[in-house]
Amino acid sequence: MSKDYYKDLGVDKNANADEIKTAFRKKAHEHHPDKGGDEAKFKEINEAYQVLGNAEKRKQYDQFGSSFQNGQAGGGSYGQGFGGFNGGMNINMDDLGDIFGGFGDIFGFGGSSSSQRGPEKGRDLEMSLAIDFLDAVHGTETEITFPHLKKCSVCQGSGHAPDAKITSCSTCKGSGRVTRMQRTILGAVQTQATCPDCQGEGKKASADCKHCHGQGRIRETESIKVKIPAGINQGESIRLAGYGDAGEKGAASGDLFLRIRINAHANFKREGDDIHTQTEISMVQAALGDTINVDTISGNFKLKIPEGTQGQTIFRLKSKGVPHLHGRGQGDHFVRVKVLIPKVLNKKQKDLLSQLNL
Ligand SMILES: [Zn+2]
Ligand SMILES: [Zn+2]
Repeated sequence: MSKDYYKDLGVDKNANADEIKTAFRKKAHEHHPDKGGDEAKFKEINEAYQVLGNAEKRKQYDQFGSSFQNGQAGGGSYGQGFGGFNGGMNINMDDLGDIFGGFGDIFGFGGSSSSQRGPEKGRDLEMSLAIDFLDAVHGTETEITFPHLKKCSVCQGSGHAPDAKITSCSTCKGSGRVTRMQRTILGAVQTQATCPDCQGEGKKASADCKHCHGQGRIRETESIKVKIPAGINQGESIRLAGYGDAGEKGAASGDLFLRIRINAHANFKREGDDIHTQTEISMVQAALGDTINVDTISGNFKLKIPEGTQGQTIFRLKSKGVPHLHGRGQGDHFVRVKVLIPKVLNKKQKDLLSQLNL
């Protein structure tokens, strides 16, 4: 028989994952059997959330309705959790954990069940690095110093004393996880949890590493050399894989992201990979033409000013800009010329100018 899970949770068919979660929490509170709620209703809500709270199951449900749960149990992607509904129920403790703190006893969970997932990967870290304009343009190598949790060098992150005897955990038989089946007012509840004896490692050591007190990692300030690639721009990040926090008990380390800030330059302005500058020429240079020296990021450039150059003309120096960070080539350099009109002229200069009679 088909059920309307959306109606059970009181959400719209187009509700997003957050809305579904919020609705579930609200309803679950409302019908909490411990607080005198209706047990059957509570079960219904849980069932609805098992499906709608899971993107894949929700898609299937939208397509086929709930009737598939009996017929196709055990097959396809719903797996065991879905088929098990007739007798028991699988509870996603991530979603229930914090609101059902008081419920813990029934489920056989103590407190923060959601974090019981075995050794966690280390956190990613971010720091900003200010570099000079021309270093960003040409690339450079610099040393950075940063604090992070580093893998313990004595135990290589395991947290075990080097001479400790390692044995397979008898509680979980080395799997790191334990399954519990309990009869509750909601029926049989099967829960999976990280093994409390070995914290998910599957093995136990006779002694902890003294250096890191069994944590496998230690807070340290580290200095490393970093290559800054030519062409990097404001706000871009360099990822230093593995230089974030070390993971718990030898789990993978996070990454360190270096966010680049570029100091302004007195002369050069950068837009993307193009450079913009201004230069001044005299009225005579503009009228008669000349060759002038222009500073570019790669040194001096002789720029030919053709005769009759107007004020605010922009000259493009092709490929004299910043090297592209991704791919070959460089941006351009644009020079805007300002034509200076003399403010003070002597009598002779004035006479000469008026003779031009332009
Ligand atoms: Zn250690
Ligand atoms: Zn264990």
